[in-house]
Amino acid sequence: MQENEHIIYKSTLLNQLDVAHGYSTRGFGDLRWNKNRQTFLTTLGMAYENLVMGEQVHGIRIAHVDDHQKGKIIPGTDGLISRSSGILLGVTFADCVPLLAIDQKAGVIGTAHAGWKGTLAGIAREFIDHMKNEGADIKNIYVSIGPHIGMCCYNVDEGRARAFQNRFGMNEKIASQAGNDWHLDIGMANYMSLSDAGVPQTQIDVSEVCTACHVDSFNSFRRDTKEAFGVQLGVISL
Ligand SMILES: [Zn+2]
Repeated sequence: MQENEHIIYKSTLLNQLDVAHGYSTRGFGDLRWNKNRQTFLTTLGMAYENLVMGEQVHGIRIAHVDDHQKGKIIPGTDGLISRSSGILLGVTFADCVPLLAIDQKAGVIGTAHAGWKGTLAGIAREFIDHMKNEGADIKNIYVSIGPHIGMCCYNVDEGRARAFQNRFGMNEKIASQAGNDWHLDIGMANYMSLSDAGVPQTQIDVSEVCTACHVDSFNSFRRDTKEAFGVQLGVISL
């Protein structure tokens, strides 16, 4: 990918539903910078002033936000829920799992950031519970699990793999061992959590893109050097 090449990654499922959303790719640069956020959102046809973000502390706290929080970063939260039509919810990621969710009938949207800690602590279920509290109907919730590090590149120590086995059972699709090497699929773990929380499996779209394999297109915490490192931004709006 060329520098400054403005390619937006979209969920096939959310696209079919005509949901305003998108994930930035490497061509937009490091989305920790406001200037790059502005460029990305302008390309998407969205207004930067309406963006609300969570601080993202690898916890499971979810905040309900409205128009009063536009332009703010909500401290101590990894998930955001809103029913405000003027708002834009965002989540940054670089290997961690970004979740974008919507119930179009109830008019509820949400974003969540699930790294291994949040995934293990159950942020996906917490996220869906809060969507329901805001009026979403589990039958009408659609979720995009965005680009994240795949099992191919996410090798971990045995302790972390065992913790996932304790939480998710002996599922080779989530934690697998090859010799002394353990690998995790945190996208699949979140998929299972969402499904267990009641979201119909046909309404969950898991991105097949591994951010570490596709380091030309995506920033990767694991694969990038300190100098080259940046983050992507995922956004959704009603
Ligand atoms: Zn990979």
